[in-house]
Amino acid sequence: MISPGKTIGVLGGGQLGRMFAHAAERLGYRVHIYEPEANGPAGEVSAHEVNRPYTDVEALADFVRACDVVTYEFENIPVAPLWEIEKLAVLHPHWSVLETCQNRMREKTWLRKNGFPHVPFAEVEAGDDLAAAIRRIGLPCVVKTADFGYDGKGQIKVSDDASLAKAVASFAKQRCVIEKFIDFKCELSVLVARSGTGEVKAFPVAENIHTRHILDFSIVPARVPAEITAEAEKLALAIVEKLDVVGLLAIELFLTDRGEILVNELAPRPHNSGHWTLDACVTSQFEQHVRAVCGLPLGDVSAVAPVVMVNILGDAWKWQGDKITGEPNWKAVLEHPRAKLHLYGKREPRPGRKMGHFTVTAMTADAALEAARKLKARL
Ligand code: ADP
Ligand code: MG
Repeated sequence: MISPGKTIGVLGGGQLGRMFAHAAERLGYRVHIYEPEANGPAGEVSAHEVNRPYTDVEALADFVRACDVVTYEFENIPVAPLWEIEKLAVLHPHWSVLETCQNRMREKTWLRKNGFPHVPFAEVEAGDDLAAAIRRIGLPCVVKTADFGYDGKGQIKVSDDASLAKAVASFAKQRCVIEKFIDFKCELSVLVARSGTGEVKAFPVAENIHTRHILDFSIVPARVPAEITAEAEKLALAIVEKLDVVGLLAIELFLTDRGEILVNELAPRPHNSGHWTLDACVTSQFEQHVRAVCGLPLGDVSAVAPVVMVNILGDAWKWQGDKITGEPNWKAVLEHPRAKLHLYGKREPRPGRKMGHFTVTAMTADAALEAARKLKARL
């Protein structure tokens, strides 16, 4: 067990690192951040920050030597430098988990190999005939680059000749996966923590609404039958064991019209769809991640009230062309008695950039969603 008072290193310095640092520091840990870019959300709330590239093995080695355990909050960290530091530090989850999850092709192949339900897909190597592969899968489909995708970046829905040509022009020189377009009933996610001691706990299932491929609302409890949430949790527990994760694993799911659950994506870290836990769960996802990577007993995952989380993107600022002319109406959220505002301290709002979020609790999920939509409209 890595006791409170010891030092936790975090690779990556965005908002997930910031909220992780808050949780760790409350438990008495010191948090060190390794992040290539200066002035990020996590560094400003942590004891120590190093701004060096992930590929600087010497800087990375110095960094991890000062830590009792190291974790990551960002998926696109190159894995090779982590091999070099393996003997110097305990890294949770293991780099092999990151390697599997950071590349869609490896991730989906892993799901297929291990018999977990997933979206049907085809693999395309760089330079292969992408158009022919798309026609084989059939339209509509979604072409996604194997590496570096997030918030819908690196993916194109193909539904006609024009979008097919666009996908070929954009992605023909990259490794891709092509997925069948799923006309899902809704999207769900499960966060599950597994401690170094083997203890495992899944948070209540969230229902997620994405707008332009970016998470917009997370609703808890998910408005689906109890059999579905039970099956989603069972699936999450099986995946976290099989992948041998120590830490937190987020699993994004599609629920199809036929009631099938398909895994869309895995992320071995705290997740945007778990931010509601900060305000409406006995233990937050960030505290749970601290507990899991430090080998502490896991916390209670009971939700304390129905809740909705809303992302606040740079779009919420008042824009005139590409100039900002005003801030969001924070007072709208602040004056609501059951809403909580969280901002990440990012200095430059940009369209599509996650700047913060708010949550609102209510007597039912539907009432929380109604309140959340009203607040979002007034923001
Ligand atoms: P990322 O979150 O890394 O950008 P995802 O694969 O999760 O990538 O895609 C983002 C969103 O796009 C999903 O949450 C979903 O709303 C939509 N999407 C992705 N793949 C499909 C698909 N095969 N069928 C239907 N919608 C999809
Ligand atoms: Mg996703």
